[in-house]
Amino acid sequence: MDLFELTIHELHEKLKKREVSSVEATKATLARIEAVEPKVNAFITVTTDEALKAAEEADKRIASGNIDILTGIPVALKDIFLTKGIRTTCASKILDNFVPPYDATSWLKLKERGAVLLGKLNQDEFAMGSSCESSAFGPTKNPWNPDCIPGGSSGGSAAAIAAQEAVATLGTDTGGSIRQPASHCGCVGLKPTYGRVSRYGVIAYASSLDQVGPMTRDVTDCAIMLGAVAGYDPLDSTSVNMPVPDYTKALIPDVKGLKIGLPKEYYIEGLDPDVKKALDLAIETYRGLGAEFVDISLPHTDYAVATYYLIATAEASSNLARYDGVRFGHRTSEPGNLIETYSRSRDEGFGAEVKRRIMLGTYALSSGYYDAYYIKAQKVRTLIMNDFLKAFETVDAILTPVAPTPAFRIGEKSSDPLQMYLSDIFTIPVNMAGTCGISVPAGMSASGLPIGLQLIGKPFGEETIIRAAYAFEQATEWHKRKAAL
Ligand code: GLN
Repeated sequence: MDLFELTIHELHEKLKKREVSSVEATKATLARIEAVEPKVNAFITVTTDEALKAAEEADKRIASGNIDILTGIPVALKDIFLTKGIRTTCASKILDNFVPPYDATSWLKLKERGAVLLGKLNQDEFAMGSSCESSAFGPTKNPWNPDCIPGGSSGGSAAAIAAQEAVATLGTDTGGSIRQPASHCGCVGLKPTYGRVSRYGVIAYASSLDQVGPMTRDVTDCAIMLGAVAGYDPLDSTSVNMPVPDYTKALIPDVKGLKIGLPKEYYIEGLDPDVKKALDLAIETYRGLGAEFVDISLPHTDYAVATYYLIATAEASSNLARYDGVRFGHRTSEPGNLIETYSRSRDEGFGAEVKRRIMLGTYALSSGYYDAYYIKAQKVRTLIMNDFLKAFETVDAILTPVAPTPAFRIGEKSSDPLQMYLSDIFTIPVNMAGTCGISVPAGMSASGLPIGLQLIGKPFGEETIIRAAYAFEQATEWHKRKAAL
């Protein structure tokens, strides 16, 4: 096996035994990036020099006997994470030349343990999208089929794993942006419970929904990465002050007696037959492992997408007000008066999808419409949350598809925003409820595209879904498949 194909735990073993150095692993991965990037476009910025320097530091640390599971591991970050001294664009022209003066807490935690940063990954602009097509830096291609999207918004984070351009990555998930690309690219992606991971230094899209999470080759790596980034952060008042469990202790291939809910609203007509087949087979696998299935209902599911597009856009319109051509990023070359400077800079700097959402959100928050739309959406959000809490009175986890179809073709939905929005129907409710969900490889479509399954857990129930995902992974071979690039 090539060095760039290894998981965190496999590479760690080799580093520990001094069979390879971090510099060797980093160089191999950088060479891989150079070889496949023309086909994939997963990176916005590759930090070759910084990576080699960090790898040398990691090797020194290893030589002194101070090795941690993440020391010397080459990772990459969605370009939404602030990285001190390294350009951070959020895939927008408006932040084209933005170099942050500090690190996001989640990245700092990895860095302090000796992880090596390979670069910053492509995404939808400001994380608004499901396909990576709204990036100002061109679309990322799905490594399994370059005519298809990798999913979004963390499409670069998923494609980099599938194309073996990084051992592990971080993404963010506001309405599905970790789980859906993980599903489309055949990797593991976990959206933690709201408050589990600090959002400090993560460019805000919809602050009440955004959450940071790992994207990895297998469930073991997912547990390692989650444990590394989770925890209270005094710099994020919404992070929760609860002890972080050792998630690797949940890596037990045992689901005997586990009660798994199947929500009838998720097994709908219109579900792609390949997705349905993968789910049916997964249910059989779980039954064989001794899990019990319970039919449940999440009755407000139908309202989730509409509610999300009110709340997320309202928060986005407020969060994105700070990009005005004065404080950050792009400023128009024809400023005029102050208002003209703002509006021209924003007009030139933001892409079409971002503008659409700012307008939708501003409208929903404007006087007269605030009560009719925004307040109403908040009330429906509570109903969606209650659906989950009620379901979790009888089940330990919920099993659903991640997306209604495998990865679609580039261009297929980009001219029809509503179709694009509907592709998040199974992931959005989890963010609305503030709970956790994981996507694990569970099949392949007839045309050779990966299909993931979603396990939804109780708030702060990450250990249960990690255990269930691990049991499934150990019983199947899907995670071992590799995209032939
Ligand atoms: N696709 C959804 C959106 O466009 C979710 C994006 C996300 O999770 N960041 O908003």
